Amino acid sequence: MGQGTPFEMVSRDAELRIARARELAARFPYAAEALLFYCHLAPFSGGETDLRAIVTEYGPPALRDAALTGGEPFNSFRDFMLGEHVCSEVLIANGAEYGAFCGFCARFRTVPRAQCIYCQSSDVAFFSSESLPHIRAQVCEQCRRYVSEVDVASDASAVADLDEIAALPLDLWVRQSGYTKATRNWMGL
Ligand SMILES: [Zn+2]
Ligand SMILES: [Zn+2]
Repeated sequence: MGQGTPFEMVSRDAELRIARARELAARFPYAAEALLFYCHLAPFSGGETDLRAIVTEYGPPALRDAALTGGEPFNSFRDFMLGEHVCSEVLIANGAEYGAFCGFCARFRTVPRAQCIYCQSSDVAFFSSESLPHIRAQVCEQCRRYVSEVDVASDASAVADLDEIAALPLDLWVRQSGYTKATRNWMGL
């Protein structure tokens, strides 16, 4: 992913990502804590001490407590931020372009539409909600896993992996319907 690629809008620079996180936090109060925390994480570079300091000051309560006392969920979060991470993928639709994107390393891979990205089954269905019409969840009836899909063409200011956090109710609905998210995002969701 470099400048000028069809997907430059999803990687964006830190300032644009932070602006989007603030806008979403104002619109969706239930996701505000995570999104505002993200504003402090977006420009982050450093080691465990620096990360622990940010979490202690701005993190959600569970993460903050764990950062002070040690243990989970801080350790998983630290490993995701500082170590090798399993890419947390979101499907991105941008007109004819389509693929799976990880917001943390900006890794993008082209994948077929309407096909499970884990078991390749075409037996998939979609869940959507009215509050965020550009986001839907693609569920697989074979392996029962799901992934979020963000149509960035229909919302010019969308940042796929941040918008996904604002779609938390959709996430919960899909889970309650018996599907499991294959790759967790940086919030552990
Ligand atoms: Zn990644
Ligand atoms: Zn599958």
